[in-house]
Amino acid sequence: MNFKEYIRVIENWPQEGIRFKDITTLLNNGPVYKEAIDQLKQLVKDLKIDVIAGPEARGFVVGAPLAYALGVGFVPIRKSGKLPSQTIEAGYDLEYGKDKLAVHNDAIQPGQRVLIADDLLATGGTIATAINLVEQLGGEVVGAAFLIELTYLTGREKMKGIEVFTLMQY
Ligand code: IMP
Repeated sequence: MNFKEYIRVIENWPQEGIRFKDITTLLNNGPVYKEAIDQLKQLVKDLKIDVIAGPEARGFVVGAPLAYALGVGFVPIRKSGKLPSQTIEAGYDLEYGKDKLAVHNDAIQPGQRVLIADDLLATGGTIATAINLVEQLGGEVVGAAFLIELTYLTGREKMKGIEVFTLMQY
């Protein structure tokens, strides 16, 4: 399946010079969304994953259905101040902007094998921060799965030693 047919590219959003890949046009097509999750499942199913961690908000729409499909748990990584129990936090730079991510400090047990999931890999800043949080909790990041990779931003290079799986490359 050519998933790119279902991605809407928005010029100069949210800032001048950004070509935003809008995945909502893929998500609202049931068979295509299902096929995308099924293909990611095939790519990661042999990694012996214990749990999937995904950053809000679009990491949830990839990570949660993938966790369900694999029958493993899902850990939400959220913006600072959103999680109700005790958290650890880490800061990061975005392709456009800055932010801070948090995770519950008991969400991952030492030694658990963790897959990180998100919609899109750009500079890798978000995922490097998610990896940092998982590793602070003693989790072992065994892979990272995305719908889209912006290869010209070389985010993959931030993830040495971690297998990266993507369905579409730009
Ligand atoms: P990174 O941290 O630079 O790799 O940026 C990845 C994060 O920014 C992901 O969580 C994406 O949801 C978001 N993002 C950056 N560029 C785009 C885009 O073109 N489309 C959708 N999301 C994007």
